[in-house]
Parts: sequence; structure tokens; C-alpha cells
Amino acid sequence: MRGEKTEEYVVGKIRVLVTYKKVKNLNLRIRVRDGKAIASVPRRYPPEKVHYWLESQREWLEHQTLKLAQMRLRQSETVAAAGIEKISENPCQQKQQREQLHAKAMRMIEIWAPKMGELRPSSLTIRIMRTRWGSCNHATRSINLNLELLARPEWALEYVIVHELAHLYHRGHGPQFWEMVEDVLPDWKERRRALRKIPPI
Ligand SMILES: [Zn+2]
Repeated sequence: MRGEKTEEYVVGKIRVLVTYKKVKNLNLRIRVRDGKAIASVPRRYPPEKVHYWLESQREWLEHQTLKLAQMRLRQSETVAAAGIEKISENPCQQKQQREQLHAKAMRMIEIWAPKMGELRPSSLTIRIMRTRWGSCNHATRSINLNLELLARPEWALEYVIVHELAHLYHRGHGPQFWEMVEDVLPDWKERRRALRKIPPI
């Protein structure tokens, strides 16, 4: 529409699309379809006041964004990462599944590692583990992932990868470790809780 102008503002880590248009009031909402924060403000409203207003809504914004992410997580809880229900016991098929998870995990690492810093794993090995989803050798920077992740939802694989990537920087599970995980995956607690309900064996 003529006379409308859309600008992007950043509040904390959240991007807000602000449209200046013919409205009387300030309006802010989270679009459920894609989780984007959308605002509309009167056409001649001063931009610095918009910024101030958005800052005052920060807590609400963060809370709503997280709530929506958790809702999506629950919806996807039953969908396996590769549509696989069970890891094969046939060695040949299992080898294929291992390669499948390796490729998938490598693609995910390419997405998440740059968000966390400079470090990359020196190697990635897929194996069957009884009690753990993954492990990371801090000294050699090698990461192991449990093949069972292929039969789990995508958010599970994502969480385990971010978790192990954070171990490239922090050996144990101290506050700094969780801070790093939280920084890129604000809903990590929810994921960890959900993951406990679907253990490796
Ligand atoms: Zn750990």
C-alpha cells in the first residue's frame, strides 16, 4: 500500500519487522506461521520511540518466541529425522544408515558451528552407544554420535550436535557450557527433557 514503510529492528536477539502505516495504535504480535515478530505503528511515529517501545516489550517478545518454539517442538516430536523407525541389524543396511546420519550431521554442523565460533570437529564418527547420544573428546576435538539418532526427531539430532559442539570449547557441563548452548538453542531444556523420554535403547 502507498505510504507504508517496513523496517527491521533488533530487540535482544529477536528481529522485529515494523510497518509504519495508517493505524492509531502500536501493535506487536508473533506470527504463528513462521514465528516472526511483526509490529505496526502509526505512520509518523518517531523511530527512536519505536525502539524504546520495542525494548519495553522485550521480555514479552522473548517469552512468546520461546513458547512458540516449544510448541513446534512438541508438534514435531513424533517425526523421525530420516523417517526411519528402527536401526537395522543387517550390517550392510546399518552401514548405509551410518553414512546417512553422517551426511545429515555434517550438514547440520555446517549450520551450527559458525554460530558458535571458530572451532570445528576434527572428525565425526557414527556408532551405536548404549547409554549416550553423543560424546566429544575435548583434546582431540573428535565427536561421536549415536546411530539411533537417525530414528529420532530432527530437533533431537540438532540438540545433540549443538551440545557436542559446545564441548569443543568447554570440557564439562559448567555454567559457561550451558550459556553457550542457550545462546544458540534457547529451548535446549525442553529438548533435553523430551530426549530423556526417548532413550537410545
Ligand atoms: Zn555433555
